[in-house]
Amino acid sequence: MKVIQDIQELRHELASYDSIGFVPTMGFLHEGHGSLLEQARRENEIVVLSIFVNPTQFGPNEDLERYPRDEQRDQQLARAAGVDYLFYPTNETMYPLDMARVTVRTGDDVLCGASRPGHFDGVLTVVSKLLNIVHPTRAYFGLKDAQQLALIEGYVADYFVPVEIVRCPIIREEDGLAKSSRNVYLSEQERGQAPRLQQALQEAKHLLETGMPVEEVVERTKDALRLEGTELDYVDAVAYPTLGPVSSDTQTILLAVAVQFQSARLIDNLLYTRGA
Ligand code: AMP
Repeated sequence: MKVIQDIQELRHELASYDSIGFVPTMGFLHEGHGSLLEQARRENEIVVLSIFVNPTQFGPNEDLERYPRDEQRDQQLARAAGVDYLFYPTNETMYPLDMARVTVRTGDDVLCGASRPGHFDGVLTVVSKLLNIVHPTRAYFGLKDAQQLALIEGYVADYFVPVEIVRCPIIREEDGLAKSSRNVYLSEQERGQAPRLQQALQEAKHLLETGMPVEEVVERTKDALRLEGTELDYVDAVAYPTLGPVSSDTQTILLAVAVQFQSARLIDNLLYTRGA
């Protein structure tokens, strides 16, 4: 595995391959990232992993400074996962002039976009830069961040970016908690409460299967997620992947939740396809 910080050097290295699988991350790798890398390994000649904690997707009061980082451990995990190139850019490399940014036009007025203003502009900006640097055949993203994935698909379609975006399933702990770099922030008590997110979504799935109206399922899920010592950020349902309102024609519904614990904000979601 080669670790590269320089864009020209990376481009030079990648010039001669037939297919490149790309997994962009913010590091502090776990099995969620690992599953994306595995799939990229199976489907491409080489695998490129990027690790970059992107400052433009963090709000002023968010966890940019304390976001968990462990370069040595990440390199070991990346090597073990069969990564060929690890791209590890600096802020200066990624934002040389910072004269131009990508902005979201629709789909960031709901869910995490509503609670984190500007977050998805930062995400699309960095993803756009990374795709332009790596020119992958396929890029892999987790449904853990389902809104992010839909907005990236929208960006790629609107800008005619020649890449296949691959949706990857959510990887969970044994008790159902979605794996996340931020899970290390949780106190023991919070870690005990955290699987409630997935449990509430599973209950919601059963209610949707019984034909209960979506608005009622959302209200029930809110009730299930009023956990002691936490603040419910949102429970909402939108059409997927348009991120517009759910209507009688909506085939696939994204039911998404975010709960603010003392030390971490956790998200989880469910994709429900009617009649499937
Ligand atoms: P992050 O490092 O948190 O920005 O995540 C990098 C990529 O890994 C994104 O596409 C995430 O959606 C994906 N990812 C993070 N956690 C998981 C998980 N538990 N299961 C599947 N994919 C994940």
